[in-house]
Amino acid sequence: MVLFNSVRGLNSKAAVLSKFFNGALERKFNCVRQLSTQVVFKGTPASILVSEDEAAIREMITKMCQNVISPRVKKMDSTSTMDKEVIDALFQNGLMGIDTDPKYGGTGASFLATVLAVEELAKFDPSVSILMDVHSTVCMSTFNKFASEEHREKYLPRLCKDTIASFCLSEVESGSDAFALKTRAIDKGDHFVINGSKCWISNSREAGIFLVFANVDPSKGYKGITCFILEKGMPGLTVAKPEDKLGIRASSTCTVSFEDVKVPKENVLGQIGHGYKYAIGVLNEGRIGIGAQMTGLAQGCFDHAVKYALERKQFGQAIFDFQGMQHQIASIATQIEAARLLVYSAARMRDAGVDVVQAGAMAKYYASEVATATTSKCVEWMGGVGFTKDYPVEKYYRDCKIGCIYEGTTNIQLNTIAKLLKATYSQ
Ligand SMILES: Cc1cc2nc3c(=O)[nH]c(=O)nc-3n(C[C@H](O)[C@H](O)[C@H](O)COP(=O)(O)OP(=O)(O)OC[C@H]3O[C@@H](n4cnc5c(N)ncnc54)[C@H](O)[C@@H]3O)c2cc1C
Repeated sequence: MVLFNSVRGLNSKAAVLSKFFNGALERKFNCVRQLSTQVVFKGTPASILVSEDEAAIREMITKMCQNVISPRVKKMDSTSTMDKEVIDALFQNGLMGIDTDPKYGGTGASFLATVLAVEELAKFDPSVSILMDVHSTVCMSTFNKFASEEHREKYLPRLCKDTIASFCLSEVESGSDAFALKTRAIDKGDHFVINGSKCWISNSREAGIFLVFANVDPSKGYKGITCFILEKGMPGLTVAKPEDKLGIRASSTCTVSFEDVKVPKENVLGQIGHGYKYAIGVLNEGRIGIGAQMTGLAQGCFDHAVKYALERKQFGQAIFDFQGMQHQIASIATQIEAARLLVYSAARMRDAGVDVVQAGAMAKYYASEVATATTSKCVEWMGGVGFTKDYPVEKYYRDCKIGCIYEGTTNIQLNTIAKLLKATYSQ
């Protein structure tokens, strides 16, 4: 919490945000104007979109990652567990309520600050990054955007302080076609009874709160889908053992089942039958978070490989100095920066209250492709050692693949982009 006191309350309202954004840009441009005369501007193109406060947040997160996460990455990956001290650090440093209003215990920073946090965590460990990302950009957003004031007051302080949330939408038969879900909630007067099963649920092993999407009236199709707030320990709610995954192994991904789970009526989040709208709403924005995760992952991998290329000598010179290597390295650096620009721009649009459906889909799609290309090249640039667990690049190579799958596969992002393009060009 200490880290963010300085930025608390800066960005909670759209008007303030817009003012803050414009002010930040003005400061940046002034800075660039001054620096350009001195020719010492060291920022990358995307840094122009980051305010000084947000850059300070990122710097503090980097220190936290170096001290708390870095020493634990390898063990967490090999044991497929998330270290409790890492989780505690995320809460203690205000990251789990980063863009939530301080009146609920949040940090009150911008969505761009959230994205910077996800990116920075991913540079060190994409598993830690997704824990924070799902909790923040998907679960907290559902509460912040769609829950009643009563629900916000009841749950947000816990979710900012010490309770992890998970988002339970996917099922065995409904992945890309998410709203074909079969989990059923039957109205019993003063409560609902939920039966069904959700698969691939991130954070589910550690979660205290489960946002569960179930249909209260299948005859209405997706318009029967309703979001329920379930708590760990409710009779009939079980979390199976985590999936044995290719990458992001420290992030728990489990099946969550419901057998006659009795849920009080007051645990309906928002309105009955509006669950699909809420899910689409937060996932459209959540995709910017996945774009940030993939950008951070690519950058983290690139940083390791380029340092190696500068040190490793063959034919009497650093391998970095071969032109064939330099062209590949320069190309990947450009692609990472382009992904970052898409991600930051989409986040800024979200902060300004602009529709981000296309921007979020583009950011996630492109950053996932860039992460895949980057990690593959980095393994190659490091030769034989890149292929071993002695260096971290093989882990990034495994971790990146999920970017093309969760929160909508690459094909689903392309479908969305194409649909919007068609609408634009058909006008
Ligand atoms: C590690 C991990 C964590 C996850 N975390 C969560 C979570 O926290 N909460 C949650 O609810 N879900 C979660 N998921 C589920 C994830 O969102 C789904 O896996 C994803 O949406 C894809 O669904 P599917 O696996 O059923 O694939 P499918 O939908 O079966 O897709 C298989 C292939 O078909 C293609 N395809 C499908 N439909 C179309 C189409 N219309 N056009 C073109 N191509 C198409 C896809 O692009 C893909 O290549 C997670 C998954 C994983 C692996």
